[in-house]
Amino acid sequence: MKMKYLIVIYTLFFICSCAVNPVTGKQDLVLLSESDELALGRKTNEEVLKQYTIYDNPVLQNYVQNIGSKLAAKSHRANLNYQFTVLDSKEVNAFALPGGYVYVTRGLMAYLNSEAELAAVLGHEIGHVTARHSVRQHSATQLTNIGAVLTSIFVPGITQASNQLVQFAGGALLRGYGRTHELEADRLGAEYLARTNYNPEAMLDVIRVLKNQELFDKDLAKAEGREPRTYHGVFSTHPDNDTRLQEVVATAKTLSEAGKTNYVGHDEYISLIDKLVFGDSPRDGILRGRQFFHEGLGFSMHFPEQWNVSNQPDRLILNPITGDALIQISTDNLNKSLSPRDYMIQRLQLTNLTNESALNINGFAAHTGISLINNKQSSIAGRFTVIYFQKRVYIIAGMTKDPDTLAKYDKTITDTAKSFHALTNDEKILAKPLRINIVKAKNNTRFASLAKQSPLENNAESQLRLLNAKYPTGEPVNNSLIKIIK
Ligand SMILES: [Zn+2]
Repeated sequence: MKMKYLIVIYTLFFICSCAVNPVTGKQDLVLLSESDELALGRKTNEEVLKQYTIYDNPVLQNYVQNIGSKLAAKSHRANLNYQFTVLDSKEVNAFALPGGYVYVTRGLMAYLNSEAELAAVLGHEIGHVTARHSVRQHSATQLTNIGAVLTSIFVPGITQASNQLVQFAGGALLRGYGRTHELEADRLGAEYLARTNYNPEAMLDVIRVLKNQELFDKDLAKAEGREPRTYHGVFSTHPDNDTRLQEVVATAKTLSEAGKTNYVGHDEYISLIDKLVFGDSPRDGILRGRQFFHEGLGFSMHFPEQWNVSNQPDRLILNPITGDALIQISTDNLNKSLSPRDYMIQRLQLTNLTNESALNINGFAAHTGISLINNKQSSIAGRFTVIYFQKRVYIIAGMTKDPDTLAKYDKTITDTAKSFHALTNDEKILAKPLRINIVKAKNNTRFASLAKQSPLENNAESQLRLLNAKYPTGEPVNNSLIKIIK
């Protein structure tokens, strides 16, 4: 395996040590030929679609694909076959893979307010593709990582592969490429907007949308004791970014065809996102206050007050603000020949159980016990509970670094496990997702009064303003279409 690894790196190095950059026309030191780049994109796309689900709305998918294709046709690499995909994720994000795979989350689409803004997001991502940023970034600094990425994506299925993808994606694709590449992507995006007769100023509007998100999230993160989210790291860098961005947009404006109007498309866009799912998707489970509902799996649980909840594809992670404990909830297919206790011992390999008891949790067979795990890497004191429900087993693992800390949290962890129950008919109604609803503002419509009727938690008034590009203090304009959440 190791030998193969080295061969891959060197082969790439000798075959394609130079390539003409499609944007600058100059020679770049890049390690990937175009066909390698396309192969990398195809394989990484498969990995992305293992982690994300495509949003189920063909009309919206077509709309995004059409706008993307229009922009791409006027780009520096019009020969590529671009694919634009709306992902069913509440994250506010957009990213691109080498070779022309561009993704935008429904989470980001919820906050955009015009077709031109959507085009600006897509244009920016196309810019990363046409300037070959991921390829250049990796050739410049991460020789070995290219080998790692290629190896991992050609050998899918191993744990390491997904870690490598996260590393690759986390390093460049999701967090951005550094300020120089980001500004270049903005410049290219603005240029593609102008060439397709969208108003290039939409680029500034999108940056404002994301900047306000970040300002709001900073306050929210502080209250929730977590790190604030960032989009492509755009805002934490130089203070002159705004000026440079303004220049980029002004230059792009001169490229618009004479006599063509600068299209914005506010009403068209927001009518199209009417009924768009907002926040948690029912497929992943929905959190209302402290109650968690999972319609697909048919269960509900109550989570501890003020603990942060992270809903990941294969597990739920709960953390107190102090960060000295976590509860992980995961599920597995049930092997019926095992009792809950035997499952803990044989499948989870918890051989040194103490404080054990067999439980009946709301009608379902369960077992609980404490286990101390000590090895070279870590020492963990854990309260483990397994529950048999329908054809699956649910594993609720409360973990701390030592027995004293576990004692402090033991009741909270046990109460959380014991709250597990089958979804009731009343809860099935609550398990429905929130959706964007488009309404017409009246003369006296104010965000404060809309917030009072809103199901949004955590400062509904500010969230409604963010959704409608009126943060921090704006109000709806009479007769305009606005987004509310229902
Ligand atoms: Zn970017």
